Amino acid sequence: MTNPAFFERAHDGILQLRAYEPGKPVSDLQRELGLDSIIKLASNENPLGMAPAAAQALADWHGNLGLYPDGNGLALKEKLAARFDIDVNRITLGNGSSEILDLTARIFLGPGRNAVYSQYGFAVYPITTLGMHAEPREVPALGASDNMPCGHDLDAFADYMDDNTGVVFIASPTNPIGTWLAPSAIEAFVENTPEHVVIVLDEAYVEYQDEDKRVDSRALLERHPNLIVTRTFSKIFGMAGLRVGYSLSSPEMADLLNRIRPAFNVNELAQYCACAALDDDAFVTRSYRENAQERERLQRGLQERGLVCLPSQGNFITFDCGQPSTPLFDALLREGVIVRPLASYGMTRHLRVTVGTAADNATFLAALDKVLAAP
Ligand SMILES: *Cc1c(COP(=O)(O)O)cnc(C)c1O
Repeated sequence: MTNPAFFERAHDGILQLRAYEPGKPVSDLQRELGLDSIIKLASNENPLGMAPAAAQALADWHGNLGLYPDGNGLALKEKLAARFDIDVNRITLGNGSSEILDLTARIFLGPGRNAVYSQYGFAVYPITTLGMHAEPREVPALGASDNMPCGHDLDAFADYMDDNTGVVFIASPTNPIGTWLAPSAIEAFVENTPEHVVIVLDEAYVEYQDEDKRVDSRALLERHPNLIVTRTFSKIFGMAGLRVGYSLSSPEMADLLNRIRPAFNVNELAQYCACAALDDDAFVTRSYRENAQERERLQRGLQERGLVCLPSQGNFITFDCGQPSTPLFDALLREGVIVRPLASYGMTRHLRVTVGTAADNATFLAALDKVLAAP
């Protein structure tokens, strides 16, 4: 079949791309295999669901969806500003934090520019870079014998930057790996990166991190106007379906982001629920604790089966199956367990599993035993 005439006129970057592969939805698997009981540990959602304060707010909400939302998101921004003791004009709201990654690329990337990020970095970085017709530069990850195997090699990043570097993407903890960067390493990196380069520090999983491993990104913003810190309500707040994220930056950066931000990018319900979620510290604390505990148990379970896990400070674990992982992924699907194959990241022997409830994790390990034992 030949493509319609317009197809090849899409710019090269787009033609090189493949669409983002989301975790397989439960409804797909239900339709395909007719299973009753399916657990999804594929997209790093919170297994406890949505923050109860947000769920309550959603149930009680009686606004008017016939009206446009507040395009400025002022109530939510003021709440975030108070929480982080930061000026409202340093906050930008996104339709998920991935939208902020995309807005950043749209401002600073284009033909002739390049973006630098680590091998095994989040899939959105190359997508948004190629989408802007810019050159992706992947910095080889740390080796398997490093104490942060497959993690970002921050020291090597400088070698990949030049006058045409528009954006550098770093994440701590990173996804799909789970490794993190020492606060002092992030500080030194930001300090040593020239100011014409925009640094995106992706903190989607920061609330899952142990306190002593978190960088004080808020303080870094005071000294570095070229820094954008992105966060999300999708992960620990359990609101992935509502799509709301935000960035903290200099006011000048926020000004640029706002110039191209779609006017009503965060819907009314999402703004309202995010405000409520910010009051639910008890839920965040509980999610952090249970994740830390279950992550450790799950890691032990995998190690007892002889599988090597990469270090993780997120709500997921990436492990080496010791064999090609896509057949194992398929076999797990037939057992009603959805995990994440990582072949699209060039990791053909690894799987990523989201840390679920104790019951989910037990179901996953039992399914894993079954598929590993199969001839
Ligand atoms: C999940 C995730 C995000 C955020 O996704 P949104 O739902 O768009 O907020 C950003 N970066 C990384 C590394 C992630 O894993």
